[in-house]
This record gives sequence, C-alpha cells and structure tokens, in this order.
Amino acid sequence: MPDPILAAVMTAPRAPIELREFARPDLPSGAALLRTTRSEVCGTDVHLWHGRLSGVPYPIIPGHVSAGMVDAVRGAITGLDGSPIREGDRVVFFDVHRTCGRCRACTVHRTPTRCAARRVYGITDPAAEGLFGGWAQAIYLEPGVGLARLPEAIAFDDYIGGGCGLLTAVHIAERAEIRLGDSVVVQGTGAVGLSAIALARIAGASRVIAIGAPADRLALAREMGADLTLDITTTSADERRQAVLDATFGEGADAVLEAAGAAAAISEGLDLARVGGRYVIAGHYTDVGPATINAHHQINRKHLEIRGCWGSEVGHFVRALSLLERYAATVPWDAIGGRRYGLEALNEALADAAAMRITKALVDPWACVGESGAKPLG
Ligand SMILES: [Zn+2]
Ligand SMILES: [Zn+2]
Repeated sequence: MPDPILAAVMTAPRAPIELREFARPDLPSGAALLRTTRSEVCGTDVHLWHGRLSGVPYPIIPGHVSAGMVDAVRGAITGLDGSPIREGDRVVFFDVHRTCGRCRACTVHRTPTRCAARRVYGITDPAAEGLFGGWAQAIYLEPGVGLARLPEAIAFDDYIGGGCGLLTAVHIAERAEIRLGDSVVVQGTGAVGLSAIALARIAGASRVIAIGAPADRLALAREMGADLTLDITTTSADERRQAVLDATFGEGADAVLEAAGAAAAISEGLDLARVGGRYVIAGHYTDVGPATINAHHQINRKHLEIRGCWGSEVGHFVRALSLLERYAATVPWDAIGGRRYGLEALNEALADAAAMRITKALVDPWACVGESGAKPLG
C-alpha cells in the first residue's frame, strides 16, 4: 500500500472531482484497512454531484459500495458470520455504520434505516475524517463496521454490479411480500429496478413486467427476468396500463415496485396495482416534487396497501451476498456495471452516468492514468 494514499474527492456539488493524497491511517483496535479493488459510480453519486441530497458534509470521498482485499487489521476482527477476518481476505462491508441501536427508531419502531446517528460511507462521512469512501486506493474500516468475506463464487464485478441497488431491492422485495405466483410490475430499469426484477423472479413471481428506458436497459431487464418490458419513451400511460391489465386477468398487478424516482410514476403505479394490491415506493430517494393522485379511486376504494422503503439494513446486505453466491452464474448482475474508470476519470464517469450512457460505472482505483481513456486531472 502506498503512503500517501490517493483518493478522489467531491469538494462541493457541481465542482470537478479532485485527486487528493491521504496519509495511511493509524488503526485502532478492531479496525482494518481495505485495499480497494472496485467501487462504483451509481445514481446516488450523481445525486450527490448535483447537490440533491440533504445533510451531505462536503468535501467527501464518494463510493458507498466497494470491495477489496484486507491490507491490515489491528487486533482480532470477525465477519458477520462470526469467523475471523485476516489480512489478504477478499472482503466487502455494509456501507451503513454507527446505527445506534438505542434510539426510538432503532428500538421502539424497529426502523433502523431512520436512525439519526446512522452514517453511510461515501455519502455522509466527511473526507476530513479520513478514508470513508471507495473512490480511493484504500478504505478505512472503523471498528463495528459490518464485514463479510466475499465468497469465491462472486466476482468483484458481480458484487459491484449488484451493489447498492441489489441491497435496496432485497429490502423492496421484503416490503412487497411477494408471494408465489404473484404478478409484479417494476417501475424503473436503473440499478435498483433491474435487481428488483431479478428478485421478483427469484421470489416466485409468475409474471414480471418492467417499465423503463432506454432500449439497452430494457434488453437487460429481460435478461434479469422480466417477461414483458414497456418503453416509457414510446408508449403512453394508457397503453402501459392496458398492457399490464392484459397480462394480469384484467385486474392489475399483485405488487407494484416503484424504482423510477419520477413524480409522474406514482399515479401511474397506483393505477397498475390490482384491488387489494401492494405498492412499494423506493425510488423517491430525492425530492422530485409532489405527485397528484385521486385518493378515492386510487387508494381508498381500491383498498390498496402503500409502503415506503428507505435504505437497507445489515440483514439485507447479508441476504444480498447469499443471493449473489447462489444466482450470480445465472443472473447477469455484472452487466449492470458499465465501463471501468480510474480515479482520474471520475468526472467523465459522473457525466456518463448522469446522461444514462451507463447504468453504473465501475471504479478501479489502481487503473493507470489514461488507462480508462480519460485525460488526467491537472
Ligand atoms: Zn438509532
Ligand atoms: Zn450506489
């Protein structure tokens, strides 16, 4: 591990990403230093870059879902399965840390993703505190972070391709209580929607219908398990509703999963669910403004169940790893990851993700300058 360690820093919204040097951290007992093999640029990073998330302590080192090899450990540390973590292990970690376990959200309401003390690597950890993000050659894993060895069957690119979207999708599938034989509509074919499609299929849905764009993402949606894809740019809401009715005995879907993040998706999603169906809203991660609905027709008379879904818990991380280990050979999670970018090319990666030229970018902090095809910074 070089000292100093290179990291890419987002200093403020819309500002160019800067390469900065960090000293190799002194590890307290129970901490580890991860040599980063892969991280990602996902939709959340685009939101961070556009300044759409509140409470972000810029400057930050982005990259919340990452994977690597343990470079050093101090004292004895164990993974979430209780086995020791050693230097040289391929390790991944749950990006949410410092969830307190004592507040009302954690204990009374059992909604730990709403714990006020919760912090997230690459999002709510300031760069001033050190290497708390994956856009760096190394990541500081503080004591208490949830660690797991990456099973040999899971390639780094499968893990990052699934990434945060897969963890969110595990939570969505749980909230949606998908039953054997259910019909499921997934709104949105970004990283979250694509994983939600795969999990609906794995959970036993008999029919999975995906709504999204562009055409290459719809093709990937079919590879992930969608039976039918509807292009939002070439169909009207009425046409999409009719297609869903045609595929569901004229009733609408048992479960509709929102992973689109557009205000207009909400009213449409309510109309795509059957009477007594379930609607899980997970894509409104940022405030895109109010949605207009008719509560009489779309909720009350329909006897509809609507559930929000915020973030993910450590259990979703563990389940995601088990799912990847079992299904990565047949579900093309690695295809969600687009091009590989070095640290000097992350401005280009953000621009590509924002323009939807890629669903997510793979970050390789060890790619030589110029190897990813971008001009070096400075
Ligand atoms: Zn708490
Ligand atoms: Zn992400």
